Amino acid sequence: MTSEITQDMDPDSAVYKTLLESTKAIPWKIDWKTMKFAYIGPQIENLLGWAPDSWASVEDWAARIHEEDRERVVNFCVAQSKAGVDHEADYRALTRDGNYVWIRDVVHVVRKENGEVDALVGFMFDISERKKTEEKLLSLQKELEALSFKDELTGIPNRRMFDSILEVEWTNATRSRLPLSLILFDIDHFKQYNDHYGHIQGDNCLRRMAQLLNRAATRPRDFLARIGGEEFVLVLPETDAEAAAKVARRCQDLLAEEGIPHEQSPVSPILTISLGIGTITPGRSDRPIDFIEEVDKRLYQAKEKGRNRIVGG
Ligand code: GH3
Ligand code: MG
Ligand code: MG
Repeated sequence: MTSEITQDMDPDSAVYKTLLESTKAIPWKIDWKTMKFAYIGPQIENLLGWAPDSWASVEDWAARIHEEDRERVVNFCVAQSKAGVDHEADYRALTRDGNYVWIRDVVHVVRKENGEVDALVGFMFDISERKKTEEKLLSLQKELEALSFKDELTGIPNRRMFDSILEVEWTNATRSRLPLSLILFDIDHFKQYNDHYGHIQGDNCLRRMAQLLNRAATRPRDFLARIGGEEFVLVLPETDAEAAAKVARRCQDLLAEEGIPHEQSPVSPILTISLGIGTITPGRSDRPIDFIEEVDKRLYQAKEKGRNRIVGG
């Protein structure tokens, strides 16, 4: 579908022109033989300040890439184009007033019937918001390495880190309109566990629990923290209620497989957990604290209903 559109893309066709020039992505076409721009969407001027007719050749494009990105991006794009392979590259593009905007350039190689490269067509996307988020997450991860964000007993992030990450992901979800899920965990009858097996074994148990919950959440942005004595939380960005319920069940299953004996538990001969789940696509007036409270209520309900269970929305 995409290739059909781009293959047939004729900047002079009124319909395509209207379509192409009304999207936020910026379309362009480069003639392979002359290495000149055959077309660039007028939106480019809004984004970078450079008028469309100032984009004459690939040199203009290369010159407007941040110095630190230029060599990598130009070499990569030239090699891929020569090989006839579609590709994409992220780089900082220079604006007319001397700033930089993060761009993702997605490139399709158009061939002639005899297989020779005829042209390159593509779209430039403004990814500065996403980059900002990535950079913020990256710097938070660095902070995690600093002791103050780490739980000493289990080695996973602590409550402070949870607060920071939730704030970032909350903002993300508000902007992207993608659902954010939260799972709260509390070990059942852990006081009895300690009383019966002793504190040292109790501590070991908490370490095992941290490992196990980490295994249950597999996506790179999934985030686990220990937020209380025997309480854990999972933050699941871009995850709807159904997917979150699956993760919750996986946690229970992994714990059952682990089969940690808990002779004194009125619920089960092995260690169990109670879970509360919530999913939200936050609006501007929603607050993380209310959301956490709501999920905490569900955890409390799971306890009340007899423990070793999940309560979701
Ligand atoms: P419930 O099923 O209602 O959650 O019962 P519970 O006994 O788990 O709940 P409660 O909150 O009353 O007790 C939590 C216990 O967790 C208290 C304490 O003995 C134990 N605990 C908290 N932090 C630690 C810790 O760092 N190490 C160990 N070994 N135990 C801890
Ligand atoms: Mg508790
Ligand atoms: Mg408990």
